[in-house]
Amino acid sequence: MNPTKEEKRKKLIDLRKKALDDDNLPLKEGATNLVFGEGNVDAEILFIGEGPGHWEDVKARPFVGNAGALLNQMLEHIKIERKDVFITNVIMYRPPGNRDPEQEEIDAFSPYIDRIIKTISPRMIVTLGRFSMAKFIPNVMISNVHGKPRTIEWKGIKIIVLPMYHPAAALRNGDIKFKFKRDFEQILEILKETDKVDDTIPKDDSEQMSLV
Ligand code: URA
Repeated sequence: MNPTKEEKRKKLIDLRKKALDDDNLPLKEGATNLVFGEGNVDAEILFIGEGPGHWEDVKARPFVGNAGALLNQMLEHIKIERKDVFITNVIMYRPPGNRDPEQEEIDAFSPYIDRIIKTISPRMIVTLGRFSMAKFIPNVMISNVHGKPRTIEWKGIKIIVLPMYHPAAALRNGDIKFKFKRDFEQILEILKETDKVDDTIPKDDSEQMSLV
């Protein structure tokens, strides 16, 4: 039987506590707060970003700085309320100087992120940026695959993954912002027409990861 919303909420509260108590998690020492993630535990859409920045570290909430403002604006644009989705990141502590997360750091947080995915069991994961994308779709370039949904099997759950640029990249580059908005505008349609989704996962690992 599927868990109730209350059971899911409890699971995530317990998981957050476990993460808070986990002294083996990297980056803990230099961070102010753990940014576990927030939103609807029954969400159809799970957004996964890169990692906390300055304001996220201060407020212990994901996407509350400039990138978050753009994310909020896009959600509003497609008439989805932020409280109806769930938002997290591939790492839960802010890296020093906002540097990119390292693979070992992403790997260390992975059991927690996977447990969030399993608990929420969303229909769609929107990856924001290349680090989050690479967790589900490795060895591809974001410039080639952004906005192209595909169905993956993740720990026994079938999920649509929609790779998108990171909103911070969109803020830095007008062309990326245009593409980011266009990709965002597809979300509801993709959820409605799940058959449009490409069921295959490219095996080509010759592609290099993009820098964006
Ligand atoms: N950038 C991210 O990837 N995640 C956040 O939570 C904030 C900024």
